[in-house]
Amino acid sequence: MAEAEVGDDVFEGDPTVKRLEEAAAGLLGQEAALFVPSGTMANQVALRMLTRAGDEIICEVGAHIVNYEVAAASVLSGLQLSPIESPGGILTPEMVEPRIRPENIHHPNTSVIALENTHNRAGGNVYPLEAIWSLRELARTRGLQFYLDGARVWNAAAYLEVPVSEITSRFDAVSVCFSKGLGAPVGSAVASTRENIKTARRIRKMFGGGMRQVGIIAAGALYALENNLERLIDDHRRARVLAENLADTGLFEMAPKSVLTNIVVIGLKSQVSEIEFCSALESRGVLLVPFGRARIRAVAHLDIGDEDIDEASRVIIDVARSYL
Ligand SMILES: *Cc1c(COP(=O)(O)O)cnc(C)c1O
Repeated sequence: MAEAEVGDDVFEGDPTVKRLEEAAAGLLGQEAALFVPSGTMANQVALRMLTRAGDEIICEVGAHIVNYEVAAASVLSGLQLSPIESPGGILTPEMVEPRIRPENIHHPNTSVIALENTHNRAGGNVYPLEAIWSLRELARTRGLQFYLDGARVWNAAAYLEVPVSEITSRFDAVSVCFSKGLGAPVGSAVASTRENIKTARRIRKMFGGGMRQVGIIAAGALYALENNLERLIDDHRRARVLAENLADTGLFEMAPKSVLTNIVVIGLKSQVSEIEFCSALESRGVLLVPFGRARIRAVAHLDIGDEDIDEASRVIIDVARSYL
């Protein structure tokens, strides 16, 4: 990063950003990509790019775009979300089809089917490839855009043991994150057709995401792409170990077999609030986040090794015992 060659990326003159965008587009099986500061901006640039104000987006109720983006789709782009509750966060054509609005002067215009893979709120759950294919078919036949929030799609590909493009090339547009599992300090991207990405570049500027000598952070993202994809399965293995360590005690509500990737959702059995539980963990050096009522989330990542998993397991069990 310190040695990155830089230029003004607002004028498309930063060679390191260009390299990153080309590498990302290539890996994702899309024509072009655009570097953005955050996953939220990636989603919001992409949704704006695919829609017009007054459109409706069919998605899953636990989706990041529903829960964690400060209502940006409605505030920034005048969009309405149509969230579906589904087991494990996985949508099927049978669930989505009835939500597609017929043409009628009263209705919003359904324009996008949006998936999230892996699904964060569903504990890092992975879409089976066949489910993606059948939803893509539905989107095609009904003339809808097919969008993937792929902030965590690298983990999905690692779990399925397929090249990431096997998943991402099926979508009209996709967002990915370089900082989550991949471990870069900053950055996400939107990938789509060359024509769409031209539009996305204007939208990114409008949303305040045009950055000047940004090659220094793009270099970190490039490093992550080149070095940190293969090690994701280590995170998955460690997350499973953490889940098994905790489940063995009988102190928590959890199913270690449902831990497919790097996210572990831990259900608390005692009366203590998830917020208080996380504060107690934090005071002992273990950082987990509250994840809804009586649930907390742990994520294995680049900076967590086998000994850290053992130590975290001990601390989480200790704290749970202290609330019995
Ligand atoms: C983290 C995340 C985002 C948003 O990323 P930020 O960089 O925090 O804005 C979007 N989608 C999913 C599924 C995520 O996990």
